[in-house]
Amino acid sequence: MFPQRFDSIPVYPFSSGSPVNKADAAGHIHPKLKWLMFARLIFTIFLLGSTLYLQYQSKEPSISAFITILYLLIAVIFFLSLLYAMMFDRIERHWLFAFIQIALDSFIVSMIVLITGGFFSIFSFLYLVIVIYASMILYLRGGIALAVLCGLQYAAIVFLQLVDVAESVGINDGAALHQIGYLQIILKVGITTIACFAVAVLSGLLTEQNRKTQSDLRAMEMHVKRVEKMAYMGEMAAGLAHEIKNPLASVVGCIQLLKEELRYDPDHQRLMEIVLRETDRLGHLVNEFLLFARPPAGKPELLNVKQAIEEIVGLFEKDTNYSHRFTLKKEIIADATILMDTGHLRQVLWNLLLNAAEALQGEGTIEITAIPDSNDEVSIHVRDNGCGMTPETIQKIFDPFFTTKSEGTGLGLSIVHRILEAYDSRLDVQSQPEHGTTFSFSLKRSDKVKV
Ligand code: ADP
Repeated sequence: MFPQRFDSIPVYPFSSGSPVNKADAAGHIHPKLKWLMFARLIFTIFLLGSTLYLQYQSKEPSISAFITILYLLIAVIFFLSLLYAMMFDRIERHWLFAFIQIALDSFIVSMIVLITGGFFSIFSFLYLVIVIYASMILYLRGGIALAVLCGLQYAAIVFLQLVDVAESVGINDGAALHQIGYLQIILKVGITTIACFAVAVLSGLLTEQNRKTQSDLRAMEMHVKRVEKMAYMGEMAAGLAHEIKNPLASVVGCIQLLKEELRYDPDHQRLMEIVLRETDRLGHLVNEFLLFARPPAGKPELLNVKQAIEEIVGLFEKDTNYSHRFTLKKEIIADATILMDTGHLRQVLWNLLLNAAEALQGEGTIEITAIPDSNDEVSIHVRDNGCGMTPETIQKIFDPFFTTKSEGTGLGLSIVHRILEAYDSRLDVQSQPEHGTTFSFSLKRSDKVKV
C-alpha cells in the first residue's frame, strides 16, 4: 500500500497501539471446561468410593434400592464423561457444549436430591455449586440460565414428592412432607431458587470483572512490549534509512544525467526507466521507514473533529485508485475539538482507510464513526466488511514489516501506532475472517464547546 500513503506527513516522536483482540469466549471456556471434566471425574470416583463403603457397611435391604440408583448414576456420569472427552476437540460451539454438560450435571444433582430425601435432602446445596461453576464458565448469562433450571428442578422434585409420585416409584417417602405447611414448603423452594439467582449474579459479575481485568492486563502487557520493540527497531531503522537515502539520491541523480546525455537507445532508455522506477519505490519505502523510525514532532492545534475527518474522508473518496471499490458511510456525531497535528490525524485515518479499502473483496462498505464517550474523549472507529483477519494475523499486524500484501511494506499500522501513542491513545482492533475489521482509538477532547 505504500505508493499511495502520505509520506510527507510529520509524525510525533512516539506512538501507540495494541491489538486488543477481544478474544472470543470460546478461548476462555475451553480450559475451564477441561478442569470441570476433571473435577467431575474426581467427584464421581469419590461418590463410587462412598457408595461401596455404604454397601459394605449396611446390610439393610431397604437401602439396596438406594445403592442401586447411586450405582446407576455413577455409571451415567462415567459414560457422559467418556462421551465429553471424545467430543471435546471436535465440538466448535464451546458455549453450548459447556451449557449442555452443566445442565446434565444439574439433572444428576436433582436425582441425588430426589433419592436423598427431596425436600429434606441435605444435598440441595449442590445446586449452588452448579450455579457457581456455571457462572465461572459461562459468565452471568449462563449462571442465570442454570439458576432458572436448578430452581425449576427443585420445585419439580418437591411437587413430585407432594403428589406422592416419588413415593409410588419407591424413591422416597413423601409422608413427612404432608406434615409441613404449604407456606413453609413454598418458602424453602423460593429461598433455594433466590439463593441460586443471587449466587449466579454475584459469581457471574465477579467472573466478568475478572475476565475484563485480565484482558485489560494482557492488552497493556502487549502494548508495553510492542512499544519497547518499536523504540528499539526505530533506533536501528533511523540510522539505516539515512545511510540508504544518501546513496539513493546519488544513484537517481546519476541516472537522470545519463538519461539526458547518452545517445538515444530504446534499450538503454527502458533500463534507465526501470532503475528510476525502482529507486523511486525504494525512496518511498525509506521515507515510510523514517516516518516510523523517527517520526517528526507535529504542531498540535485545535481541530474540529467533524470538519477534520470530513476533509480527510473527502480526499480519500476522491482517490481514484480506491474510490470505485467502496461505499463510504459516515457517522460523525462528535462536533468536538481535539488538540492534534492535522497531518497526524490525516496520516492515521488515511492509513486505516487505505487498509480498509484494500481489505475489501471486490466491493464493500467502509464506515467511519466519531462519537463522544463518557471519558471526555472522542471514540473513532474505522470499520470495513472486508476479508477480516485470523487471531494469528492480528497478533502480528503491529510488527513493523509484517504484511500479507504483495505490494505492502508492513509499516502502515506501525506508523499509526506510533502517532497515536504520542496522544496517549491506543489502537484497538476487532476482526473476524470473512466478516470484516474494526480499528478503534480515542482522542481526548480539548474542550466541550459545541461549534
Ligand atoms: P501493509 O498495508 O503495507 O501490509 P500495514 O501495517 O498497514 O501494512 O498492515 C499490516 C497487515 O495488517 C496487512 O498486510 C493486513 O494483513 C493487515 N490488515 C491491516 N488492516 C486490515 C484490514 N482492515 N482488514 C484486514 N487486514 C488488515
